[in-house]
Amino acid sequence: MTARRLSARWLLPADRPAVEHGALLIGPDGRIAAVGPEPDVPRPAGVALEDFGDAVLLPGLINTHTHLELTGLEGEPPGHDFADWIRRLREAKAARAPEAYLDAARRGLADCLAAGVTTVADTGDSGAVIQALAEAGGSGIAYQEVFGPHPDQREASLAALRQRVEHLRRFVTERVRIGVSPHAPYSVSGPLYAATSEWARREALPVAVHLAESPAESALLERGTGPFSEAWRGRGIPLPLPPGRTPVAWLEEHGVLSDRTLCIHVVQAGPGDVARLARTGASVAHCPLSNRAHGHGAAPLGAFLAAGIRVGLGTDSTVSVGRLDLLAEARAARVLGGLDAARALALCTLEGARALGLEAEIGSLAPGKWGDCAVIRPPHGAAGAPPEEQVLASGPRDVLATFLGGRNVHRTSRVP
Ligand SMILES: [Zn+2]
Repeated sequence: MTARRLSARWLLPADRPAVEHGALLIGPDGRIAAVGPEPDVPRPAGVALEDFGDAVLLPGLINTHTHLELTGLEGEPPGHDFADWIRRLREAKAARAPEAYLDAARRGLADCLAAGVTTVADTGDSGAVIQALAEAGGSGIAYQEVFGPHPDQREASLAALRQRVEHLRRFVTERVRIGVSPHAPYSVSGPLYAATSEWARREALPVAVHLAESPAESALLERGTGPFSEAWRGRGIPLPLPPGRTPVAWLEEHGVLSDRTLCIHVVQAGPGDVARLARTGASVAHCPLSNRAHGHGAAPLGAFLAAGIRVGLGTDSTVSVGRLDLLAEARAARVLGGLDAARALALCTLEGARALGLEAEIGSLAPGKWGDCAVIRPPHGAAGAPPEEQVLASGPRDVLATFLGGRNVHRTSRVP
């Protein structure tokens, strides 16, 4: 790859204040060689120079929760009956041809790149997303899902997961990682959680769990009531043990929470749960628009941040939110957490990287990190505002170009 030098009116490094008239030099190895004010960044001979005028250059965005294999399954807005929605989603997945998953994953990944997102943390069970990431030379963590609500399924589910992960390891690269996702407390038994977590610990695999998302999940674990409990009884599945635990406490008791664990949603969480997450070092993928679309309520974002919990932003799937727009999530998080623009934006750059344990490699424009960046044109009405506000006012259609390890992976075809 040839080296390239990018410049623009504003550069947002994410680990330092905004630079007016900034530049970024990405070396032939795809990593950042220099960054800073325009006059301080070298122009080595033979380097491709590109100036983006009034645009804002910022780190490639990090989406900490996607289901890219579900791209194309979106239909009606999800409604507020979560257990019923899960059942309908299972049926829609079963009706989709196996080869359609890879196609969906490729389209979903292309949509992410076009929206300035360079790294995804994705959960799925088809294996299509890790393949799509590897093919595209992408960046991310693909968490392979495992299901099994009946304790008797533990051995078979774990064996199938291990086999699947071994099979998919051929797609792992320097930038494409594999993890595991024991799906959710309403779809995985306590014994399967414990066994999967123990195996992931030995293998040093990252773990992602949908956690404390709906009131129905809390009713199942805390009181043995609600739609999931009724479904369990109807299918002869014993209710989770021990009873009377919040979802977060229940997972901690099964050894799931650690600094390798990404907890997705975490809406139904009180002060004790926040303290548990902080104590165990687990991180949170905050998905405010999905939580709202399903009627789950609002996650205690301010409490997470005050407790020092690592938090990134996630869109969840197109089935939940219609389209993937991480900056819309940042706007919602800003309101929910009472954050300033820079902090809200950091949730989809450096804080997102921290939530995934990847902050040494991505998340800010700093020498040595990967040359991942998005170039955003200020939308009408936002020109002249501080650059963080310009970015927060924008959306996927305002992304002029996206670079991944210095490669140009998206460029708008729209006339400015
Ligand atoms: Zn999800």
